[in-house]
Amino acid sequence: MREIQIGGLVPFTTIDYPGKLSGVLFLVGCPLRCAYCSNSHLIDVGDGPYDPEKVFDWIKARVGKLEAIVFSGGEALMQGDATIKYIQRVRELGFAIGLHTNGFYPDLLARAAPFVDWIGLDYKATRAKYESLVGNSIAYDRMSKSLDFWLTTGKDFEVRITCDPRFITKDDLREIVDDCAARGVRKIAIQKYTPYAEDDAHKTTPEAREQFFNDADLREYINKKFESVIWRE
Ligand code: SF4
Repeated sequence: MREIQIGGLVPFTTIDYPGKLSGVLFLVGCPLRCAYCSNSHLIDVGDGPYDPEKVFDWIKARVGKLEAIVFSGGEALMQGDATIKYIQRVRELGFAIGLHTNGFYPDLLARAAPFVDWIGLDYKATRAKYESLVGNSIAYDRMSKSLDFWLTTGKDFEVRITCDPRFITKDDLREIVDDCAARGVRKIAIQKYTPYAEDDAHKTTPEAREQFFNDADLREYINKKFESVIWRE
């Protein structure tokens, strides 16, 4: 088995796992090609610059200082068993395990689930617009399966919607949150889009990016549907 490929590391954060001080590992490789990707240096499969055993020693030295380790990417589950085994080792040290995922690997998510305590799952657009945003025709169905699976675990999680106005309208956002609420999602995060990769033909404006956050009716509509709504600007 190939060892895990780590492309980046954040040693200390308070925002990547709700309520826990955590460190974040960014794993190499992603099956999607989202138009707004801010980690495009991580999406091609290849060798990561970090030595996994040195990172593991660093994690071991954080026992008692950090509460959680979050696996992010790229798409952390794309590395399959290498990721799952590493997650198991880290969890045996006593850390809570978080996973940021685009939901593309529901079967791997099911295998990892016994060792994962919380996930942040991307729900990127309506079904109709998913492919145009992520460049993959089966991504919506995969994400949908992952969401339904995770609900069966009873474990904590957050659904994250990044409001890129090139791919999401306010009506789309309503459609997405309606779907989430109907499935039984209790916690969501509405995330402001930050432009990293725009070309002249596909530019957004600050007003377009902010429209989701300054509409009182929309806020009320969404806030009343869930136990927790984070408006992440
Ligand atoms: S799922 Fe995340 S890492 Fe992968 S292309 Fe999309 S934004 Fe980038």
